[in-house]
Amino acid sequence: MTSEFDVIAHYFSGPTRHTVLGIGDDAALLSCNPANRLAVSTDTLVSGTHFLPETDPYLLGRKTLAVNLSDMAACAAQPSWATLALTLPSIDTVWLDRFSSGFFAMAEAYAVDLVGGDTTRGPLAMTVTVIGTVPAANFLSRAGARPGDDLWVSGTLGDAALGLIAGRRSVPLSEPARSFCLERLNNPDPRVALGLGLRGLASSAIDISDGLVADAGHIARASGVGLQIAFAQLPQSDALRELDDGQERQQCLLSGGDDYELLFTAAPAHCSAIETLGHALGVRLTCVGKVVSGVGVRIQDAGGDEIVPSRGGYDHFS
Ligand code: ADP
Ligand code: MG
Repeated sequence: MTSEFDVIAHYFSGPTRHTVLGIGDDAALLSCNPANRLAVSTDTLVSGTHFLPETDPYLLGRKTLAVNLSDMAACAAQPSWATLALTLPSIDTVWLDRFSSGFFAMAEAYAVDLVGGDTTRGPLAMTVTVIGTVPAANFLSRAGARPGDDLWVSGTLGDAALGLIAGRRSVPLSEPARSFCLERLNNPDPRVALGLGLRGLASSAIDISDGLVADAGHIARASGVGLQIAFAQLPQSDALRELDDGQERQQCLLSGGDDYELLFTAAPAHCSAIETLGHALGVRLTCVGKVVSGVGVRIQDAGGDEIVPSRGGYDHFS
């Protein structure tokens, strides 16, 4: 296997379900129901920045697509198509076999058609663009939060951050807790079904990729509101509870990235519908605070005192 074209034909030509013309021509051709809007999102993973070069390529293939599907979930869009721009240092067939298997496993799980991409030589990096569909009235933006709304979060927070710590140095964690956190870091499952379920219920949403406080800040800014978060209500996994350094646990909860949970707001009238949705999907949904008039994100402890996070979210250029 020596050429770029062999690589594309052998590893990246998968089945398509809702595509007029997929890989092989100068562009893919897509069609969609005119009642829908198209939601488009791109994410890049760079070796050494987003993952270690020795990361299992199967998991990397899954995660490359998963982080993009998470953006679709946050917009309440149904993901349908993806493109993959792959930069490889060399043609490593073992790596490509594992990477593409992981990528297509995730694509199959969410019925996403890989419809194109690019294959180039250089330092290992992958960029995925995902395209989804959503009725205009159901698109969930960061800008719809209103004072009085409840603030909700899915799943548990800080597990991926703890996985990153545990991968770098020894932390006193039980073996099940350690592998749970590494799984949360390396094999995130995007909350696509939840995003779709929130159509008509949520007023705004974002996926937590940079840390709770940083991503909450995006909702606050975009919506022109303030957010009040009750620290004691933040959902913690049993694994995170094992971390006995309280300062570090707090940092994982407030600033840990890579969780790919959804943070969303909704009118209190939808509270029981949201709880029902969580039960139906088997996803823990926790009300962690309130939308208020004002600006910024305030975190309060059980006694009402403000907690100031020691670290903000991840920013590539700060
Ligand atoms: P062009 O020369 O027009 O840029 P390419 O030779 O790069 O076309 O790609 C040929 C076809 O293979 C195109 O349809 C392109 O979208 C697709 N393609 C290239 N690389 C990938 C990849 N890594 N994954 C999926 N499709 C790819
Ligand atoms: Mg090309």
